[in-house]
Amino acid sequence: MMIKKAEILCVGTEILIGDIVNTNAAWLSKELSALGISQYHQAVIGDNSERLAQTVKDTLNNCDLLVMTGGLGPTYDDITKETVASVLGKELVFDREIFDGIKAYFDKRDRTMTENNRKQAYVIEGSKVLKNDMGTAPGILCNTGEKIIILLPGPPSELMPMWKNYARPEIEKYCDKVFVSKNVNIVGMGEAAVASELDEMMKNSVNPTIAPYCKTGETRLRITASAKTKEEAQKMCDDVIEKIKNTKINNYIYGIDTDIAEAVVKELTKRGLKIATAESCTGGLIAKMITDVPGASAVLEGGMISYSNSVKYKALGVSSSLLDRHGPYDHRVAIQMAEGVRRLMDSDVGIGVTGLAGPGGGTAKKPVGLVYIAVCYNKKTEVMKYKFGENQSRDRIRELTAVNAFINTLNILKKGQK
Ligand code: ATP
Ligand code: MG
Repeated sequence: MMIKKAEILCVGTEILIGDIVNTNAAWLSKELSALGISQYHQAVIGDNSERLAQTVKDTLNNCDLLVMTGGLGPTYDDITKETVASVLGKELVFDREIFDGIKAYFDKRDRTMTENNRKQAYVIEGSKVLKNDMGTAPGILCNTGEKIIILLPGPPSELMPMWKNYARPEIEKYCDKVFVSKNVNIVGMGEAAVASELDEMMKNSVNPTIAPYCKTGETRLRITASAKTKEEAQKMCDDVIEKIKNTKINNYIYGIDTDIAEAVVKELTKRGLKIATAESCTGGLIAKMITDVPGASAVLEGGMISYSNSVKYKALGVSSSLLDRHGPYDHRVAIQMAEGVRRLMDSDVGIGVTGLAGPGGGTAKKPVGLVYIAVCYNKKTEVMKYKFGENQSRDRIRELTAVNAFINTLNILKKGQK
């Protein structure tokens, strides 16, 4: 048996009514693509056994692999296992080992196991149990000889390790090629310019394929190769990346498979530099994105959310007459915030951002979306003015501000190269 075609079927009324977003399907889709398994269709179904049974029957006619998520819990509305068993004409059988595992899970946490948790110790006869290292509900893999059906728990924190450690290795046995994708991260050169530079290369790209796309503040190129082994596919991607680096795009590449915050943390680490942030409209987002990167403690001194004028003045030393005369949305305020926080926290690099994220509160002179970003390093402070647009949402303006703060930081660091 070879697995060529898969379907993902996510169970849960809460997905159907929009209470939760179906991140499991997005995550699993990437995993399936990486294995070279195609999908033509995906589905979400509510917690209703008849409709679920019908959908499972229909779906099995159209794929080699059916991956289901959700509905493995202990409550009455968790019906996935029972329904799949009945479609396959199989019984549910009690599994002592799973039962002991669930009991141990509760004992370890000083919690009492409830009677309905017993339900989770039942598995479809003849199936393979997929261990749940992060929770109580085990997953299940049924191999009918013609098709494979995998049942995974709904919570992503349980599903992801279960898939990676126990389900995917089983599936790989039935795949004849693997796909590897690498992203080239580019700033300062738009998607269209990148695409026209690589025109010939892209037109002829079959394996690996080269696809440009936009990401907040940057351009990315996704290189995807398929081969018999992961190593071979990786090498094919690397060869294409080398070719791209031989074009003028190279001046704008800031990393491979990274993001802008991570690139800044790496660059600071490499140079042994510390950074501090003074944020107004981003409310700590920049510092948050720095701390999202493991190892951020090597570079981040700290951050200040200097939201009010009085904190800008008292804590950072921004001139009170400047604030009085021009208000907080001013390039000099951003500069004084960056320099003030660097002084205060004794760092090498300082970031200061101030702007108007809206909605409302804008004027013709200072509209919503007006942001100043200042970065100081090596006795130099650079400030940039942005107009992200009055119709942009508050979230989007903050995201654009944070990303551009990182872009500017990276630029000033590179310029400061000795
Ligand atoms: P539990 O033991 O928690 O009941 P379960 O396997 O029965 O797990 P569900 O009851 O369907 O799973 O979902 C539990 C939780 O998992 C949901 O409330 C939601 O937070 C998350 N979840 C479920 N399905 C998805 C999905 N498709 N994408 C993202 N999160 C999901
Ligand atoms: Mg549940």
